[in-house]
Amino acid sequence: MQYKNLGKSGLKVSRLSFGSWLTFGKQIGDTTAEDLMDLAYESGINFFDNAEIYSRGESERVMGKILKNRDWRRDSYIISSKAFFGDGGQLPTQKGLNRKHLVEACEAALKRLQLDYLDLFFCHRPDKETPIEETVWTMHNLITQGKILYWGTSEWSAQEIMEAHMFARQNSLIGPTMEQPQYNMLHRDKVEVEFSQIYKTVGLGTTIWSPLASGILSGKYNEGMPEKTRLGMEGLEWLKDRNLVEENLEKVRKLTAFAKELGTTMPKLAIAWCLKNDNVSTAILGASRKEQLEETLQSLEVVELLDEGAMEQIENILDNQPQHPAF
Ligand code: NDP
Repeated sequence: MQYKNLGKSGLKVSRLSFGSWLTFGKQIGDTTAEDLMDLAYESGINFFDNAEIYSRGESERVMGKILKNRDWRRDSYIISSKAFFGDGGQLPTQKGLNRKHLVEACEAALKRLQLDYLDLFFCHRPDKETPIEETVWTMHNLITQGKILYWGTSEWSAQEIMEAHMFARQNSLIGPTMEQPQYNMLHRDKVEVEFSQIYKTVGLGTTIWSPLASGILSGKYNEGMPEKTRLGMEGLEWLKDRNLVEENLEKVRKLTAFAKELGTTMPKLAIAWCLKNDNVSTAILGASRKEQLEETLQSLEVVELLDEGAMEQIENILDNQPQHPAF
């Protein structure tokens, strides 16, 4: 495993990390969840990603039980939660980035995870109905209270992140350390263009999600819908419609052939391509089976195969390089 500072912070995060969205407490049983956490931890993964909304709190409960039953030292791993969507409650006070919900969401996550503090706490989306000042103050206070160690954002714009930093700086508060954006071969703009300045100015770290675009970039949808996979799950039609389009499949078929030429596999190529970007602090892996994680854990080795020529060939297939705005 390789480790990298999370942005300009001193926290060393494994370049591959592991998340529980749609799997823990939902698609997979608790024994499989345990096997996956064990494999991840034993392979050097030190960051496990979670959120209040994942299986409406159940995902954190499952992870909490696993952590409780292991004798892993608390200083050997990093755990996150995210607040904004709530854990299922529909009342106006049960969601958002206001002080009340953030404080209560943090307490609830700690209880479900059976931990004394969260290492990372994310604002899962921007909240247009709460002043950014209230959110920054609350996160700063949670840090000074020892409930969280670092705070960050997810799917915020560069402008929103900068607003938070400016307010934090003016008031000597702690600003956001990391952002969690989607990043993969099919979804590139934010990470490659929008944030390009703030990696330098505020030292933004990134914990990127869906490196396989929910599995399409594994190549397994190339010839039709395989059984028992995420995009065939009931209730996830929106995710299937968003990702499983012919234009994407056409590219993945060509990329799968290229991966073979390189002597690797499509999942490993797709994840290695994300890691090749130095602004990616860590790529969060997802898996519903142990064999999948065994495969994607090998992606770091493939980064070395991605020389200039290989990256150019991939770029030609993708044909989606985001452009920096002209001044
Ligand atoms: P991916 O895009 O990598 O998708 C993971 C899924 O792809 C697996 O569950 C599995 O699905 C399939 N897969 C994985 N490995 C292989 C393989 N080797 N061969 C074939 N299929 C494979 O990541 P996720 O979308 O799961 O995102 C990762 C994490 O990012 C989440 O767990 C969560 O922690 C975070 N996240 C954060 C978001 C945010 O808003 N901040 C949003 C989404 C995710 P299957 O077996 O069902 O086909």
